Amino acid sequence: MANLMVTGGAGFIGANFVHYWRGASPQDNIVVLDLLTYAGNRANLDGLDGVTLIEGDICDTPLVSSLMADYAIDTIVHLAAESHVDRSITGPDAFVTTNVIGTHSLLKAAKKAWLDEGSGRPHRFHHASTDEVYGSLSPDEPAFSETTRYAPNSPYSASKAASDHLVRAYHHTYGLETTTSNCSNNYGPFQYPEKLIPLFALNALYGRPLPIYGDGLNIRDWLHVEDHCRGIEACLRKGRPGETYNIGGGQELPNMRVIEEICHAVDKAFAADPNLAKRFPDAPPAHGRSSLESKTFVTDRKGHDRRYAIDETKARTELGYAPRRDFPQGLGETLGWYLTHEDWWAPLIEPPQICTVVTDCSCEPH
Ligand code: NAD
Repeated sequence: MANLMVTGGAGFIGANFVHYWRGASPQDNIVVLDLLTYAGNRANLDGLDGVTLIEGDICDTPLVSSLMADYAIDTIVHLAAESHVDRSITGPDAFVTTNVIGTHSLLKAAKKAWLDEGSGRPHRFHHASTDEVYGSLSPDEPAFSETTRYAPNSPYSASKAASDHLVRAYHHTYGLETTTSNCSNNYGPFQYPEKLIPLFALNALYGRPLPIYGDGLNIRDWLHVEDHCRGIEACLRKGRPGETYNIGGGQELPNMRVIEEICHAVDKAFAADPNLAKRFPDAPPAHGRSSLESKTFVTDRKGHDRRYAIDETKARTELGYAPRRDFPQGLGETLGWYLTHEDWWAPLIEPPQICTVVTDCSCEPH
């Protein structure tokens, strides 16, 4: 039996991981440490037994230390982060604070509990990182391997790269038993609707524009979040301390193709369920038209990486990791989840209240 602390466990991947782990290892205790920023949601953990949610900051080292002692934590799965590249471009400070200082705070608390005071008792610190630390690939370059040189291009990926180096240093210098996974783009339930797949799916339901960056030909490798959770589990159970593992979906797709797939899936759902036209009367397929008509090209993201691709040979051969879902299956399931969980996402996308009387107005500026 293990006592896990999952940081960021009320966020997208964190919540999926907690649900996954609850199913895979019901005997384990799970403490979620989450600041409940805009991206965290208490409701993501509803209905789970044996999970304790602590609202708190990973930067608060004394808090982390006391939780580690109180709950006899032996495993940290570190998923708390600022995670949205666009936000890192307009406001990088929070990324440095949470992703760099926050990761260091956890490492310090883990070293204190497990090495300084715990005489090296069995432990594991798993750090979830991203393929974005490797920078951008040209169309013909080989996929990222674990030995690809780091070349982060956004404040987000730079902050993740810094945190990866700290994790590496705590293993090399102090002997902390760490593993790091560098993972490709995730999608699935509970993803905040600022990320491509939920944003486009929900915009399509309301006939809102589908804003495509640049020429729409940037390539990402898409991975269903449950396959990522399976990859983290493989790192925890079989990963060698100090090692890093690339986790990917083997589904390299240009954004334009992803957007077409989302639109086709939405159109198909409307064709199969006439009730959707009543729920979402502004959606083009409610009137027999294609969701694709709402696509619109917008100015490219600053410094937009062109292509990411993951070589997952090491995880496959050493850990026995293999994703189980291909993109069409995973996307269909994900859309199905969003269509049946309107209560979850509706409060997150509601437009700001617009008032017509200006006096005593507490609405958002408009
Ligand atoms: P997310 O933004 O959905 O969730 C982040 C969670 O961390 C939220 O619950 C938030 O409240 C919490 N958090 C933020 N700051 C905190 C703090 N200071 N203290 C405690 N909790 C805090 O992110 P995600 O998409 O679930 O990503 C999780 C991890 O996986 C991140 O490290 C990210 O870099 C990495 N990753 C994500 C993807 C992806 O496609 N989403 C791909 C590869 C790697």
